[in-house]
Amino acid sequence: MTKESTISHTSEDNTHLDCSLLEKEVKVFGQEIFRQITRDKPSVLNSKFWTSKIMQWSMQFQRFKTDMFRLVDVLPSLSSSNSVTAHVSEYLGESAREIHPVIGWGVKASPGSLRGKLISLTVQKSVYQMAKQFIAGDSPENALRELKRLRGSQLAFTVDLLGEYCVSEQEALDYFERYRKAMEVFGEHVPTWDSSKPILEDHPGERTPVCVSVKLSALYSQCYALNYRKSVDILTERLSELVRVAKQKNVQVYCDAEDTSHNPIIYAVFRNVFGSPEFQDYPYPGIVIQAYARDSFALAEDMLEFARKRGAPIAVRLVKGAYWDSETVSCSQKSWENPLFTKKSDSDRNFERITELLLDNTELCLPAFGSHNIRSLSHACMYAKHKGVTTKQYELQMLYGMAEPIARAFQHSGQLVRLYVPLGELIPGMGYLVRRLLENTSNESFLRHTFFDEHAIDTLLRAPQDS
Ligand SMILES: Cc1cc2nc3c(=O)[nH]c(=O)nc-3n(C[C@H](O)[C@H](O)[C@H](O)COP(=O)(O)OP(=O)(O)OC[C@H]3O[C@@H](n4cnc5c(N)ncnc54)[C@H](O)[C@@H]3O)c2cc1C
Repeated sequence: MTKESTISHTSEDNTHLDCSLLEKEVKVFGQEIFRQITRDKPSVLNSKFWTSKIMQWSMQFQRFKTDMFRLVDVLPSLSSSNSVTAHVSEYLGESAREIHPVIGWGVKASPGSLRGKLISLTVQKSVYQMAKQFIAGDSPENALRELKRLRGSQLAFTVDLLGEYCVSEQEALDYFERYRKAMEVFGEHVPTWDSSKPILEDHPGERTPVCVSVKLSALYSQCYALNYRKSVDILTERLSELVRVAKQKNVQVYCDAEDTSHNPIIYAVFRNVFGSPEFQDYPYPGIVIQAYARDSFALAEDMLEFARKRGAPIAVRLVKGAYWDSETVSCSQKSWENPLFTKKSDSDRNFERITELLLDNTELCLPAFGSHNIRSLSHACMYAKHKGVTTKQYELQMLYGMAEPIARAFQHSGQLVRLYVPLGELIPGMGYLVRRLLENTSNESFLRHTFFDEHAIDTLLRAPQDS
């Protein structure tokens, strides 16, 4: 790549692209993916009776969903069986009665009674089981077996260490240490596996089998918008320190996107670190762009411009964004203008616009499409094909435990699929679990429409502008 190369904007002016042919191919390709997954439901939606029942009730009964997720949130902090029983009765008693009076009676029990103990055990076990579907282990050492299994089945991974907002510097430094140690453990073990040879030869994402995703805000306890300057300075220092280890251990690093108040800090830190002379040659540093943000197309252009000036490509994971519910509620409480789209089809459409922009500029970036939506991913694959972009120039990414049949179907069609694999203890895991449960049970969720509501395939594959 030369510093003089410019950003291509064919997605803005796709006059030479036969849109109706592209649309036809997206449908044919998507239908083939659907054919492959119909026999198979993702384990998150069907594995254990309790898990699937809880999910089903959460989708049918709004009040149960709210109460259930509040319970999931407090559960790891309850230290005795009696307090679990008391919380289950208090949180779920009324809403469970709405499902069925017998279920309402079933969750009410006196703490200390035999029935109370049984309830406490069952609820704890099923919530922990749910969490385990999304979390591959509590430490890097304990996750090695599962990661080896994934690579053995030709799936690449990026590991995320769970950590929600930290409140003290000690917590932030502990989190930093966990990342440093994780890179050392993975750097030492993973390259020795037979399955660590590239899944797709010459794919830039397979330059190394070890990849981590970092949640920057958890590396500094005072990371917030009103402390912008200091947050950027301190996180620049801490991320640089981690990238030094990453360079030494041959690890690829992505910086995750977070909520709107943290993202400007994250993007500034990313530019500071990977634009610095020390890391200018660090291969494919990864950043995440959220298509639900109204300004995300402009941000994607800025990131490509950054890569051009840097003189070396970056990796860009395009997602829709995980904080829609909380940000939308918070904006409406404060009467602020919502920086996110409020119609799901607008986010989907913007995802496709940015997909095209990234695929038009593969000399500046390695596009990574992070989604479980078969329409969004099929559009990316078919647009790439139309533009002569090969499967060695982009990748698909999905969340561990969320959509295995979809991952397998795209993998069988020749795509490199990378799973985003969280590791950690249950307490930080609960915040992550609640986000995944909210996503799966949302009225707008593609996974819900596919596996629970069983919407017609043609509807699911419709172009966003036709929705
Ligand atoms: C590998 C991977 C990594 C990820 N990393 C990140 C990350 O770093 N940061 C992050 O924020 N998220 C991340 N996510 C989560 C992602 O942003 C989505 O929440 C999730 O993937 C669901 O989107 P979908 O395309 O799979 O499903 P779909 O069902 O097609 O889309 C659901 C998404 O649509 C959007 N949406 C829902 N309702 C509305 C509405 N009314 N108006 C407008 N938009 C709406 C929301 O973004 C919602 O998550 C990641 C996802 C994957 C697969």
